Amino acid sequence: MKFGVIVDVEASRSIRQAEVGAAKTMIERTEERFGLKPDRLAADTAYGAAPMLNWLVEEKGIAPHIPVNDKSKRDDGTFSRGDFRYDPTGDVYHCPGGKQLGTSGPVHEGKTLLCRASKLDCYVCPLKPKCCPKEPSRKIPRDIHEHARDVARSFVGTEDFEQSRRERKKIEMRFAHLKRILKLGRLRLRGPRGAQDEIVLAAIAQNLRRLASLVARPPPAGALCIA
Ligand code: SF4
Repeated sequence: MKFGVIVDVEASRSIRQAEVGAAKTMIERTEERFGLKPDRLAADTAYGAAPMLNWLVEEKGIAPHIPVNDKSKRDDGTFSRGDFRYDPTGDVYHCPGGKQLGTSGPVHEGKTLLCRASKLDCYVCPLKPKCCPKEPSRKIPRDIHEHARDVARSFVGTEDFEQSRRERKKIEMRFAHLKRILKLGRLRLRGPRGAQDEIVLAAIAQNLRRLASLVARPPPAGALCIA
């Protein structure tokens, strides 16, 4: 990060799942090859899916400086999930009315648990019109990897997170150089293997340019250059 050196490349198709897979491959390979393991990973929301965040937090111990794509905000005036407080000790949500919503039942589609309030509580609750006007009781979906998403949310707005955002811009500049100066906007070699070879060569060239700019010293004042 400090010197803008590319330590690994992995070509992938330009679909989100493949790009996330490539990021995981590079993180593991860089650790194996160079013993380099980042404390934090700065990336855009494309890398903020719950399974990726869970892998970073639980398996790799890497702080995700990644904005979480949160679709739980309601715009119809009723309470959003953010109005419910999660209590990890009891694995329950506390609603604005002071009642508990516990997790029970199966995991839906392999990724979501439903935390439900008691119908008896909601039936007599004065906040029901603002909470679940069309249902007998309120339920809150909770991703099985929600803990990792909570960890990612906790970094947003911190000084470290802002630093990561600034540093990401620095790295984006390197990509811009690759495209503009090394003309990598379009690949010449065909197929995934060709793409991998071409991007490896481009990364080497980019690193050599960095090396030259870091170690090359200007000639002493008054020196005569003959070409
Ligand atoms: S309607 Fe139910 S979930 Fe909503 S605030 Fe009242 S008791 Fe809590």
